[in-house]
Amino acid sequence: MSPTAARRPLSSFGHRRRRGVVALAAAASALSLLVPGVADAKIRPETEVRYTDKTPTAVGYGGAVSSVDPEATEAGLRVLRAGGNAVDAAIATAAALGVTEPYSAGIGGGGYFVYYDAKKRKVSTLDGRETAPQSMPRDAFIDKKTGKPYPFTPDLVTSGVSVGVPGTPATWTTALDKWGTLTLGQALKPAITIASRGFLVDQTFRDQTLDNQIRFAAIKPTAALFLPGGDAPAVGSVFRNPDLAATYRLLAGQGTSVLYKGRIADDIVKTVRNPPKVPSTKLPVPAGYLEKSDLAGYSVIKRRPTKINYRGLKVYGMAPSSSGGSTVGEALNILETKRLSRMPRDKALHYYLDASALAFADRGAYVGDPAYVHVPLRTLLSDRFARSRACQIAPDRALATPTAAGDLDARGCARATGRKLEDNGRSTTHLVASDRWGNVVSYTLTIEQTGGSGIVVPGRGFLLNNELTDFSTVYVATDPNRIQGGKRPRSSMSPTIVTRHGKPLLALGSPGGATIITTVLQTLVNRIDLGMTLPQAVAAPRASHRNNATVSAEPAFIDAYGPSLKPYGYTFTKSGDTFSSAAEIGAAAALEFFRDGRVQAVAEPVRRGGGAAGVVCPSGR
Ligand code: GLU
Repeated sequence: MSPTAARRPLSSFGHRRRRGVVALAAAASALSLLVPGVADAKIRPETEVRYTDKTPTAVGYGGAVSSVDPEATEAGLRVLRAGGNAVDAAIATAAALGVTEPYSAGIGGGGYFVYYDAKKRKVSTLDGRETAPQSMPRDAFIDKKTGKPYPFTPDLVTSGVSVGVPGTPATWTTALDKWGTLTLGQALKPAITIASRGFLVDQTFRDQTLDNQIRFAAIKPTAALFLPGGDAPAVGSVFRNPDLAATYRLLAGQGTSVLYKGRIADDIVKTVRNPPKVPSTKLPVPAGYLEKSDLAGYSVIKRRPTKINYRGLKVYGMAPSSSGGSTVGEALNILETKRLSRMPRDKALHYYLDASALAFADRGAYVGDPAYVHVPLRTLLSDRFARSRACQIAPDRALATPTAAGDLDARGCARATGRKLEDNGRSTTHLVASDRWGNVVSYTLTIEQTGGSGIVVPGRGFLLNNELTDFSTVYVATDPNRIQGGKRPRSSMSPTIVTRHGKPLLALGSPGGATIITTVLQTLVNRIDLGMTLPQAVAAPRASHRNNATVSAEPAFIDAYGPSLKPYGYTFTKSGDTFSSAAEIGAAAALEFFRDGRVQAVAEPVRRGGGAAGVVCPSGR
């Protein structure tokens, strides 16, 4: 990108005509001479090399991958180099993350997959969210002894009750069947290698293990895998997971039906209904409700993406059961009524914060699994509704929060009864991938809490999710996110793809529970309105207003903007997971497609120990 472009807000480029098509075509055809065809795709075997290069930004041609982990990014790049497409690369990267980031993602969890098809110029999405067991009672999170909810951490999360039917394995096969070129077995190959030969433990992995030590120690197979000798693996040691390698091989050989109907299904049900806890533990670890019929009945749902126009661009996101697309979309629609690029920074940030608070109020009141509750999605994403919300933001004063949800029928300024949202965990992982044909994937996957339910399926090498804690803990009949058997709990995951004139411009997403929404929103505002390059937009300090009384923000944000935002009336609290000491918000991964045909892959330079971005053919700039 030229330095001039970097300084100008992207919004000013909204209506320009396309250029660089010729350069892209030339680069693609040059590459087709270098890269073997899909038919003879062979992912080169490697046994010894361990990838530890954490480059946060890479620019070039031929496809790109960005994730939090160098091994996982390299797994995706190897698939691309061998002629695979973006979907193949995304699944290979995700499977590798299941090995190297086992506390954030894996086959015991779920996620949302957003795909741009270059040939059709069309965005499609897959909802691979976990589902509740049919027999899950509405008071599942209430301790029968006290009549009150279990304390959230570690009691409620470390529980068979919190385990939903995993959607990730079915997402992988669905995506590969629909849009990929590899078999599941081929896509799992790099991950099997990493699980067998091991990866190098870094500080983040050790810290995450230590953060979970009490509950991991409470579950026999979890302690055996992640606390060998009673301690978290040392930084620099090699961590192997032969059980997971064998599980992946089983999936490769028999397909995912072995996990939904076969032997692994038996093991999952047994584990959830009788958690293998250590007799001496004080944690309750209650048994869950999952049955084999719940697993056998699972299906991934192909959904229409959410779509909004923002300053000449189209922003595609994930529709409910995630609240990501609707909340990011509504906030952007509100912000589109303000000329952020012409404002002083403090004023632009004030609008960003309050637009987010308003959208969160509506998320809490109106968004849940559309198979169970009516979600007024069209209204939530309409410009009329956005205007009725935008007019509530005063130019010089922060909204009093929590603020009420909007009146869906409002013509003027909307007011209605607000409900307080429940916040959720801070784990998860996001990856992006593109290929030389112009296809793009933006994929967020999770097992919910860092460490999920804390329960490893004995002999299988993976953790089960605690996604059902994303339901509201206390049952209220009007709450769209109340517990219901078979339902998908409301998510905040926001895998996003932005197009300009029908072609990809940006792809991004992040982990971070409900802060995912604000991280994606803030990164988009930074890039599109505030004149930052994508690496700057990702690295910039974050603040997250989720319609609570105070705004949580990274210390660097408070240092930089606290004084200028104080006169508006904001109160900032230092962000931080209830579960760990890290004061970071999110861990984004993103792509930008330049007009000259190059792609820029971007990962975090610092958060979560830094991520890894890579391209197939670096352009050297
Ligand atoms: N379970 C959360 C959600 O779906 C994500 C968890 C996290 O990022 O920590 O919104």
